[in-house]
Formats: sequence, structure tokens, C-alpha cells
Amino acid sequence: MTAPFKASVLTLTPDAWPGVLGVSLIGRALKTEKWQLETLDIRSFSHHKHASVDDTPAGGGPGMVLRPDVAATAIDAVAQNGRPLIHLSPRGKPLSQAKVRQWAAGPGLVLFCGRFEGLDERVIEAREMEEVSVGDYVLAGGDVAAQVIIEACVRLIPGVLGGAGSTLEESFEGGGLLEYPHYTRPRVWEGREIPPVLLSGDHGAVARWRLDEALKITKARRPDLLADKTRKESSDECD
Ligand code: SAH
Repeated sequence: MTAPFKASVLTLTPDAWPGVLGVSLIGRALKTEKWQLETLDIRSFSHHKHASVDDTPAGGGPGMVLRPDVAATAIDAVAQNGRPLIHLSPRGKPLSQAKVRQWAAGPGLVLFCGRFEGLDERVIEAREMEEVSVGDYVLAGGDVAAQVIIEACVRLIPGVLGGAGSTLEESFEGGGLLEYPHYTRPRVWEGREIPPVLLSGDHGAVARWRLDEALKITKARRPDLLADKTRKESSDECD
């Protein structure tokens, strides 16, 4: 059996872990070792007075910057074993479901969570860190962002969520569309009915309705995804 997906997390706030990853199906899968989590306290790698990890920015300006020597000592203490080394950063490449799928199929990830103003650029270069952003907004630290990435990966590991087919039809998967709306009992709630086609038992009609709804929602909310899909499909035809 291959070793399970392992996330090693370098953080200044180990109390924030496992956080949301310790609950529900993801948490149960952690307990049953379908995946592994290791957290390392960056501060414990400091040889400076008062275990200091940061200093004032060269060139002036607000806030504090994480020192490269402390960060590198912490990074070098992790056995990377072929896992990508990620630096969570709003300047990074935006996270995508395609990337998540690729990582979930691999041996795991090493994630460095920044804080304060960020990390000294030299360690990012020297350790060839891959910079990843979870969105165009600024968080106070990388821990929540790292939990986002790990949760997105772990839910794809076979056996973690149960229904194996369930992750293939979702938003951003397969057809590259946002997902169609879901309904369950009761049939009428506050005067609102479940669309009758979903109760018709006609699987073909249900599939057509869902595709139609997915297209409508994607067009209204994320026309960029439809443009990407059209571009991709026409380049596939050229291949
Ligand atoms: N001065 C930085 C922001 C620092 S925020 C800048 O303007 O780019 C502090 C830390 O939070 C960062 O080092 C990073 O690890 C994390 N962080 C903040 N926003 C993030 C985002 N959108 N994606 C991933 N990590 C983020």
C-alpha cells in the first residue's frame, strides 16, 4: 500500500491546527489515518533572543517581516519526500480545482504559513517555494489558506467522503461549469416547489435540466468560466 497523503505545516500559530480539519468526515479520516497531518512551530526553530522570528522591513515601512534564517531552518527540518513546498501568499498563483486534483493524487504537501507583512523574499527563492493564493483578498495569516488547500485535497482522497462519484460532477469539475441547484424533501416548502422534472423519474430529462441550469448559473455568475471552456474546446478540436 502506498503511504497516505501527508500535509506538513509550518506555522507561527500551532493552536490554529487541526482547526476545521479535525471535524466531520475530514477529521474522521485523519483519526483513521487516511491522511496525515504534521504541524511544526516555526518559533521553535529560532536561535534568537526571546525566540524572535521577525524583524523590521529593510527600506522601512509598516509591520514586521519573517526572517529567512529562521524560516529556512524550519523548512529544512521537514522531510520533503518529493512533496511540493508551498508558500501561502496573496501574491501567489490562484488555487484551482485542477491543481487540487493533481496534489490530492500525490504524496502530500509542505505548507509554509506566513504572518505579519510576509516572508523574506530570499528564502522563497532559495527554497524554490511555489506561491499559492486562495483569493484576491488579504488574510492575517496563511493558516486558514493552508486549511483551505488541505481540505480541498483530502476530500478527493478515495474513501474520505464516502460516495466516490460525488466529487466528479461538482462545480469546476468535468464540464468546467458551476453546479446545478439541489433540492430534497419536503416537496413543497414555504410555497416553493421542487422543479417537477426532478420528480418525473425521467433520467434523460433530469440530466438535460441540470446541464441547462448549470449553463444558466455559470453564464450569470462566472462568464469567464464559459469563455475558458469555449477556448479549451476549440483548441482541443485543433489538436
Ligand atoms: N503584505 C502581504 C500580505 C501579508 S498577510 C501582501 O500585501 O502581499 C500575512 C500572511 O497571510 C501572508 O504572508 C500569507 O501567508 C497569508 N495570506 C494572506 N492573504 C492570503 C491569500 N489570499 N492567500 C494565501 N495566503 C494569504
